[in-house]
Amino acid sequence: MYDVIIIGAGPTGCTAARELAYNGYKVLLVEKFKMPRNKSCSGVLIKKSMDLVRQYFGEDVPEFTMCAPTDNRGMIFTNDKGQEYRYEQEGLNIWRSSFDYWLATKATKAGAELRDGTAALSCEEQENCVLVNLKGTSLYSEKAKIVICCDGVVGSVKRKLIHTPQSYITTYQTFNKGSIDLDHHYFYAYLQPNLSEYDAWFNVKDDYLIFGVSVKDTSKIEHYYSEFIAYMKKHHKLRIEEQEKNEKWLMPRVMPGCPIEYGNRKVLFAGETAGFLNPMGEGISAGMESGYAAAKAIEKIDLDSDWNLETLLMLYQNNTSALKNYMERQWNFVANMSGTFSYMKL
Ligand SMILES: Cc1cc2nc3c(=O)[nH]c(=O)nc-3n(C[C@H](O)[C@H](O)[C@H](O)COP(=O)(O)OP(=O)(O)OC[C@H]3O[C@@H](n4cnc5c(N)ncnc54)[C@H](O)[C@@H]3O)c2cc1C
Repeated sequence: MYDVIIIGAGPTGCTAARELAYNGYKVLLVEKFKMPRNKSCSGVLIKKSMDLVRQYFGEDVPEFTMCAPTDNRGMIFTNDKGQEYRYEQEGLNIWRSSFDYWLATKATKAGAELRDGTAALSCEEQENCVLVNLKGTSLYSEKAKIVICCDGVVGSVKRKLIHTPQSYITTYQTFNKGSIDLDHHYFYAYLQPNLSEYDAWFNVKDDYLIFGVSVKDTSKIEHYYSEFIAYMKKHHKLRIEEQEKNEKWLMPRVMPGCPIEYGNRKVLFAGETAGFLNPMGEGISAGMESGYAAAKAIEKIDLDSDWNLETLLMLYQNNTSALKNYMERQWNFVANMSGTFSYMKL
């Protein structure tokens, strides 16, 4: 019997696993894919994420996880009226495959057992434990006193436990060789409604110029993507020599008031699974903060006595209240800046 099984080795799951294992808990971290695995992401670590890594993992982000240019200097928004806003801030440019793998390694060094290439299929609550049904090379189960579900945007394990309707945004990004007249140190977000249904973005990773659009309706990807490329050609002298790859992903569509699903009895939800996400898709800091908050809530109860389910949920909710307030303020701020996100206004 494990003390805690954590589902998903993204920033959320690795943070929770590292914190609990470091404090002597018997932890199993299960990850669907063999690591290092790809995760569609712009890979910008904002200053808050850098600080959280130092705080939760006891080290700075190592250089081998970074791509060029290694320093991200902030974000430049162009709002729906074509007006530009610059936010200068120290940050880093990382590849998620190596960053997440490094986080998982830190969790295993603290004593967590990582089982990658293993998908959690479902959780069943039993009298004194949760049974987690797993699929690796065969089907089998493991038991834990508590589970933290950090399996990301789709949250298939959560959806088998609670049936609230989910709303998603589809992201599409391409990796290109070529040239452009923009400074590679910034992340550029475009909120013009003719370029995407939420935002379109540009950033650079190693030799790749990356262009992305986000939509409600996937049949519109091609239309918005070609509008965005035409806009970048016209305004920023974009020249594409070759498109090397593209990827589609999902993001939670955060609703007004930023509702969060904290858990269901002995299964806590954290990171994107719970609904933690900041504007422009910044979710690494929210993932790590909520993973840590879930671990801290577990550390407050005595797993070997007859602990109360409501106390655990309340502790977790209290531990994430500052994060939730931060999310609400951030989303409100963006809603005031652009009509695209005005539905978010509180
Ligand atoms: C296009 C795009 C760009 C983004 N850019 C940024 C950015 O620049 N900066 C930033 O901070 N955020 C960014 N984000 C958001 C960020 O990627 C997410 O918010 C963050 O990864 C959430 O972390 P997580 O640990 O909750 O989930 P994830 O990182 O998605 O990790 C979940 C893990 O669970 C695993 N898993 C899934 N199902 C199962 C299962 N059944 N069993 C076992 N394991 C499972 C997955 O394989 C995955 O490894 C971006 C997102 C997208 C889509």
